[in-house]
Amino acid sequence: MSYLLKPYVNFNTGYCNHECKVCIDICPNHALKKINSEEKKVLSIGIAQFNQDACIVYTEETACGACSEHCPTQAVKMIHYKGHLTIPDIDPSICIGCGGCEYICPVRPDRAITIASTILQKPTKAPINEYKEDIKIDDFGF
Ligand code: SF4
Ligand code: SF4
Ligand code: SF4
Repeated sequence: MSYLLKPYVNFNTGYCNHECKVCIDICPNHALKKINSEEKKVLSIGIAQFNQDACIVYTEETACGACSEHCPTQAVKMIHYKGHLTIPDIDPSICIGCGGCEYICPVRPDRAITIASTILQKPTKAPINEYKEDIKIDDFGF
């Protein structure tokens, strides 16, 4: 697919803020459907995909969970892996494809959790709870 002169979302450099809808509000051609904040918070634009083989919980047997902590809908949960370790588990029914998990994941060059685009944007189930903590990526010592 060519992105020449088309907008696209790059989750390596940022993510779609749960509280924001600036692009919807400012698009001069109304190419983005005028929806309100509550509608936007449950509109799925993609689905998170987990690659366990790249996750540091699996590769280094170390605790992480940054993706789950950064998820505004709790679509990523940490489930028991082994010993004291937990590992991500995705509920696609409440994932909105915001990219918060991909952005915060410390694995390089490719993140262990990435977003696949959806052909049709559609509402998800209501999120389990609201995201409250603002995690700074600089806090991670990887
Ligand atoms: S709604 Fe998301 S994609 Fe649009 S301006 Fe805000 S953060 Fe960026
Ligand atoms: S799993 Fe990732 S893409 Fe889906 S809602 Fe949570 S942070 Fe956003
Ligand atoms: S942020 Fe990345 S490395 Fe950490 S648990 Fe999630 S997928 Fe694994």
